[in-house]
Amino acid sequence: MDNAIWNNRIRERTSDEGASGYLTIDLGAIRRNYERLSAAVSPAKAAAVVKADSYGLGATKIAATLLAAGCRHFFVAHFCEATEIRPHLSGEARIFVLNGLQPGNETPAAEAGIIPVLNSMEQLHLWSATARAFDRRLPAVLQFDTGMSRLGFPPEERAVLAEELRNNQDIEILFIMSHLASADDADSQQNGDQLSEMRRIAEEFPAFEVCFANSGGVFLGSEYHGVLARPGIALYGGAPNNGETNPMEPVVRLDVAVIQTRTVPAGARVGYGATYVTKTETRLATIAAGYADGLPRSLSDRGAVYFNGVRLPIVGRVSMDSITIDISTLPAGTLSLGSLVEVIGPNQTLEMLAADAGTISYEMLTSLGHRYRRQYR
Ligand SMILES: *Cc1c(COP(=O)(O)O)cnc(C)c1O
Repeated sequence: MDNAIWNNRIRERTSDEGASGYLTIDLGAIRRNYERLSAAVSPAKAAAVVKADSYGLGATKIAATLLAAGCRHFFVAHFCEATEIRPHLSGEARIFVLNGLQPGNETPAAEAGIIPVLNSMEQLHLWSATARAFDRRLPAVLQFDTGMSRLGFPPEERAVLAEELRNNQDIEILFIMSHLASADDADSQQNGDQLSEMRRIAEEFPAFEVCFANSGGVFLGSEYHGVLARPGIALYGGAPNNGETNPMEPVVRLDVAVIQTRTVPAGARVGYGATYVTKTETRLATIAAGYADGLPRSLSDRGAVYFNGVRLPIVGRVSMDSITIDISTLPAGTLSLGSLVEVIGPNQTLEMLAADAGTISYEMLTSLGHRYRRQYR
């Protein structure tokens, strides 16, 4: 694969710099992914979902990068995430809080110009009261539940909501939105069901434009785009559609340092609980990352890391701070103290690692933790 982040050879960086792991985040790739998504949804616009610290990769840096790329709509999950990125964005950028308002956030949200996604009557009333207290109209987005039963106004409240909005002078609705539950599976019938429901809602609330697609939705077709799409994972190089070629450019590379190597005889027990016992004489290396660094215990005796394209299986249980790998297939002496092995990179995509761990790219990324040295390119 021809990607700048991967061309920079592992051996060029050893742990001479002292870190036990290097998490490289390619801001250029994020920008190009944003441009690709923008082109895919044009003439609609692409927002950026930067919740959970931009899926663990650093929201302030990434939001600033996306702003420079032309993005003007940023979605976070929690109010505190909005206040964190606000100073890094210009005034024309709008920040939306997907979880909406929680009591206590109304006043600071109004003061900071942060826009809640109102998911319920309670939140609508809270925001209306805030607007009256501030004696001005306050902006908001309305979210509808189109079949996920998670957040948003349920179908049975729509009539009452429409009636309330006719009389409501307090709130300026910028657009309406809903969230797709199965957009990563283009064959799922739920996509069409949710689209039909969204169309009914748009007819019932004809004054407002629609914001609909997440990353997967971007690739389901233009009828899913509305006027604004909300991709998250695709910006960060994750595959928007299961089982299809990933159209996004990889963003993350993770290399971890070897901290010890050894040769053990047949019958040696490896790691906690001795879940792995060597069958023959085996060369092992212990690397400096574990479940506290987002490499979950479910990778025990399952996953692998790579060196120069060679697969090195994880043997025994993943520890908190280290993992033991079988390096017998490499020529003796190839790896030594300070060598770096690839955990995520050209040989092992985020999706491959997530699959071995029994999870999804989203959870892998948001778990990576803060003990790696982060390098932004
Ligand atoms: C997280 C989230 C997104 C982004 O989803 P991706 O699958 O990462 O593109 C969009 N909208 C809502 C409401 C979300 O919670």
